[in-house]
Amino acid sequence: MAFDYDLFVIGGGSGGVRAARIAAADHGAKVALAEEYRMGGTCVIRGCVPKKLMVFASEFPGAVADAQAYGWDAQIGAFDWPRFRSALDAELARLEGIYRSNLEKAGVTIFNARATLADPHTVALGEGRSVTAKHILIATGGRPFVPAKWEEMGCLTSNEVFQLEQLPESILIVGGGYIASEFACILNGLGVKVTQFYRGAQILRGFDDEARGHIADQMQADGVDLHLGTDIVDMEPRDGGTWVKASTGHDASYDAVMFATGRAPNSDGLGLGDLGLELKRNGAIPVDDYSQTAIPSVFAVGDVTDRVNLTPVAIREGHAFADTVFGATPRAVDHSLIASAVFTQPELGTIGLSEEEARDREPIHVFCAAFRPMHSLFAGRNERVMMKLVVSQKTDRVLGCHIVGDHAGEMIQLAAVAIGMGATKADFDRTMAVHPTMAEELVTMRNPVRSS
Ligand code: NDP
Repeated sequence: MAFDYDLFVIGGGSGGVRAARIAAADHGAKVALAEEYRMGGTCVIRGCVPKKLMVFASEFPGAVADAQAYGWDAQIGAFDWPRFRSALDAELARLEGIYRSNLEKAGVTIFNARATLADPHTVALGEGRSVTAKHILIATGGRPFVPAKWEEMGCLTSNEVFQLEQLPESILIVGGGYIASEFACILNGLGVKVTQFYRGAQILRGFDDEARGHIADQMQADGVDLHLGTDIVDMEPRDGGTWVKASTGHDASYDAVMFATGRAPNSDGLGLGDLGLELKRNGAIPVDDYSQTAIPSVFAVGDVTDRVNLTPVAIREGHAFADTVFGATPRAVDHSLIASAVFTQPELGTIGLSEEEARDREPIHVFCAAFRPMHSLFAGRNERVMMKLVVSQKTDRVLGCHIVGDHAGEMIQLAAVAIGMGATKADFDRTMAVHPTMAEELVTMRNPVRSS
């Protein structure tokens, strides 16, 4: 049977765009891609990229205070959110244009439309249009999840926060994960009075406990009003803001409330149920190691599969899919040992096992240094950096590395190469230090602080 396309990709985010480009440009496939919103997906339009630019914007008050300590006659004025936002919008439009033109250069046909599956080889594009494809790739990403009880309250999520007309004077952020903690720091830095509610005992569940504590302490010292073990029990609009009653009995009004209580796979309304494809309980599309679903012609990559929900992982999955299906070189993505960064202030860079996870598996040595780095010490700030290695007692291999401090994301990228190659503590020790840097602590920690 002749198909209109070799591949039809639904979703123009990181995973879908990479798959489409590799299939078309590297493997000569005839490819189409549908995107209902803006090209670039969550990462470019309402995630990593605008978030990181907001992190940069929020760091200037600290940088100017440091500049004074370093002898500059520097003063910070007011933050002009509309000016920043329009520069941000322009940058995102530029990036969106690049994504679009890269697809066009690769020969991919773009449909600016919502696409749904009509059968295992047919995609419906609305207005009675449909096209056929030998393979269909679902790369529709995820969306913010708001607890059902509060869905109708019109609170902010990470989707809306980049598009605010003006910054609120005060905000309540609900959640303790990446997004909640990053935005608590960003908005605090931009001068918003930030309160954060997290229902558990400590933010950033799943990360190394010592790193979590270190970050939470610093966030509180910097002015984030963090309430642990706290949930919302009641909420209502009052005087142009939102009144909130907490499970601890505390109540207050905020100009805005933002939910960062997780994300859900974007699999609704794609027609998957009618095709007999069973989804996971949270809506994720089950796939095998090669991103193939139970329907042989239908594949899925990225957050919609809820494997490891990070941009570089979606890109790798999209690339591996294209090589597997169109390049005759089957490639499965290795989801172990993925380094990541949380752009809180201070920043976290992490790879491998936390101390707690490692201890549950085997006897370990823990090497950890917490110190005041040169740059901020000189400026009179009380900030502390944390460098930690979790090492197997039996093999001497470094099982985990956790860094809290400026540029931790940059540092962990390089540590990830060594740890991915199976570096031992002896390999770290053999490496000459780069001086004076913060990262030199990673190769100069001589004695374990704990062994268990
Ligand atoms: P996370 O899953 O990281 O965090 C969700 C948070 O919301 C948790 O603290 C969770 O609590 C809490 N929560 C969940 N449900 C409720 C509820 N009903 N009431 C109160 N609190 C609730 O999700 P995020 O939205 O922060 O991020 C989504 C994903 O996006 C991340 O997993 C990550 O993969 C990716 N991301 C990565 C970034 C990076 O690499 N820097 C940045 C931003 C996002 P509990 O811990 O108790 O479950």
